[in-house]
Parts: sequence; C-alpha cells; structure tokens
Amino acid sequence: MVRRRIDPVLLAEQRLAESLQSLDFATVLNAAAERPRTVARGGSCRWCAGRFGPVLDTTELVRGRSFLTAHAVVDGTLVLKQASSTDHRDDLDSVPPMDAIALFEGMARAEAFLAACGDSRWPETAPGRRGHVAIAKRRRPGGHGTQTIALYAREPRWLLRERAFVARHGVGTASALETRNPVELLVGEFRGGLAAAVPAATTRAFEIVVWFRPGAIGALADLSGNQRWGLAQAVREITGALRLELAVRGLREEYGWRLVAGPGIEPHLRIATPRTTTVYDGPAEWVEKLRSHIGVE
Ligand SMILES: [Zn+2]
Repeated sequence: MVRRRIDPVLLAEQRLAESLQSLDFATVLNAAAERPRTVARGGSCRWCAGRFGPVLDTTELVRGRSFLTAHAVVDGTLVLKQASSTDHRDDLDSVPPMDAIALFEGMARAEAFLAACGDSRWPETAPGRRGHVAIAKRRRPGGHGTQTIALYAREPRWLLRERAFVARHGVGTASALETRNPVELLVGEFRGGLAAAVPAATTRAFEIVVWFRPGAIGALADLSGNQRWGLAQAVREITGALRLELAVRGLREEYGWRLVAGPGIEPHLRIATPRTTTVYDGPAEWVEKLRSHIGVE
C-alpha cells in the first residue's frame, strides 16, 4: 500500500539538529557521505516510507512541513534535498502561495550554508564563498516532490554554458531575453519585477525562462525578499499551468527546472519538459495555453 504522508515520528527520528544554523558544514558533509544508500523497492514512495537522509532543517507550512536532508556525496559533490512537503500530494506547483515562498526561502538558506562551507576541497569562487551551488528540480509523476541543492567543486555545465553565452553575446541570458526575445512569447509578469517567456530559440517543449527586470546579479540568497517572493510566485504559477497543460494533452506530467545563478551571473530559472516530450505545435501556442491556465487553481 502506498503511504501518502510522512509520519512525524520518522521525521523526528532522523533529525540531526534543531535547524541548519546550529549545524557546521563538516557534520552535514559526514552525514551525507555516511548515509546508507537505500535500494529502491517498487510500489511505495521511499520518502513517505522514511527512507531519506538525516534531517537538517524543517519549515512549518500552511499545509504540512517542508524539510531539508543530507542526501549524498557523489563524486565529491555534496547533495542536499528539500522535500516540498510531508504530504505526498503537495509539491511546489500545487502548495498554497505562502508555502511556495517558504520553500524558496529554505533553498536560499541552504545555498548560503553550502557556499559558506569554508572547506578547501571546494575552491574559493568569491570572497567568503566556495564552490558552485546548483539548485534544481525534476518532477516525475507519482514521485515525492523535492528540490536538489548541491555544492560542486568544478563549474557545472549550466554555468559554463551561461559564461559562453555572455562571451558570445556580451550580455547574460536574462538581458538578452529582456531586449531581444519576441514580445509575443512573454508568458507573464510577476511581483518583484519578474518576467517569464518562451525563448525564441527553444530546444525543448514548453521551455520557459523566468528572469528579473531590471537585471539582478548574484545567487538566490543575494536577491531581495521581494524578488524571491516573485520567483516563488512565478515558478508556482507557471509550473502549475504547465502541469495542467501536460495533463490536458495526455502527456506525462513531467518537467524540470534549474536556477542559473551565482556570483556575477544574471540569475534566471529555466523550466523545460524532458527531451522525450513531443508536441506538434510551437512556442506561440504554448504561450497562449499557459497564459490561459495561469491563475487557475
Ligand atoms: Zn511520498
């Protein structure tokens, strides 16, 4: 039988500390490295069954609780996971608006914690900052909703691509979308000066980029509370609309997003469906459909 909610007892049992502030980096790194790798068993959700890493932080939500875990160390990369909710049915695309904001605030705290690691295995990337923090999500049908926050020692591909884009165009992806993308591909505008559009040169079905206008620079934790509020609202509404549109089309409700951000980078968030998602219409039709769903619960 599939359990649909994480038992508070399971959460309490695996709690490493009261909050992230009371933890040091070495403790978190060890907890992630020593976490036993669980074998996937068919049927039940491994999160709801309590098979998650040591709990580093919890956040009370309007519905349920979000929590952060020390997930793994893979090839020298420290991986943390943020569970969107203890309730299996909830995810960032369906939680109440205030909960979406709380989730992004939690990601910003995790990002700041990782970047301030002070561990020489991660090279200095800015004053007081080490390594490259990657924040991303992959949503799969039936899976428990989580976000990944990881600390890389080497520049990840998405960061190299953005640097190459700047070298080629003289500006970041966000500025290029602001000034050069066809205005009819705008999906919407959000609180905190955010905009979202389908890039004209899209390579994936339902690719959407959310950016800040006027241009912001830096990591998630460097943004203002109002900008993170806008980002949470934009991601919640757009991915909610995307999920609905995929369902309407009889496609798998599957998508991912990545925050492209860091020192010197114009932050933006890229949403896309997997390469295997095939559609027979184009950006103009996607924009029309998404716009019609935004605001619809
Ligand atoms: Zn679950």
